[in-house]
Amino acid sequence: MREGRGKLFVISGPSGAGKGTIVKRVVADRGAERTALSISATTRAPRTGEVDGESYFFLTREDFLRRVDEGGFLEHAEVYGNFYGTPRSYVEDRLDQGMDVILEIDIQGAMNVKRSCPDGVFIFIVPPSMEVLRSRLTGRGTDAQDVVELRLSKAREELTHVKDYDYCVVNGDLEEAVAETEAIFTAEHARVDEEVRKLIQENY
Ligand code: ADP
Ligand code: 5GP
Repeated sequence: MREGRGKLFVISGPSGAGKGTIVKRVVADRGAERTALSISATTRAPRTGEVDGESYFFLTREDFLRRVDEGGFLEHAEVYGNFYGTPRSYVEDRLDQGMDVILEIDIQGAMNVKRSCPDGVFIFIVPPSMEVLRSRLTGRGTDAQDVVELRLSKAREELTHVKDYDYCVVNGDLEEAVAETEAIFTAEHARVDEEVRKLIQENY
């Protein structure tokens, strides 16, 4: 395994595709000392069971916008009428420590990160079909029916952005989707880049 700076993995996909489920498994399987999941800040209200500082940092609109002005976010975006942002220092510190960092963010945010961090690895998670997506969103039980409908119609548009990503994982069977995502992490660590060229030059 190579040493050095960690890699940034950006994961997007329609709400209900299974991003959260897959990411949790990847962190557990690879180990939290090697793989950090960035916790975003948001102005949306906590859902039942969500704990401040675990699911998100829940901020008022005023506090959120102050942090935007201070340059505290690597990216931020408005999604479904609420603001979401990625805390910059958390991500930079972990990458400097050699850890991989996962951002689970929406497409606008991912495209902003792509501009500032072109070395990032961009992974799109999709459900096997719209019917499955509907049943997962309903089954999750976190959103009212009108919110589910809103998320489904947004999903159709979001799926067209798959072309902007490096990888697409279809989350049908969960075990297969987790294995595929972990394989992407492994492959990206073997990629020939500037760091590997330097390593070969200095050590052999
Ligand atoms: P997202 O983070 O993309 O919004 P979640 O991870 O919350 O999606 O998943 C949505 C729902 O679908 C959850 O109830 C989750 O348990 C379920 N789910 C996720 N992946 C699968 C899968 N492969 N098979 C069946 N159910 C799944
Ligand atoms: P939810 O409210 O369901 O937790 O998330 C709604 C959407 O916001 C999801 O698509 C999620 O990926 C996205 N999101 C969560 N955190 C961030 C963030 O820090 N930045 C951006 N741009 N999107 C985020």
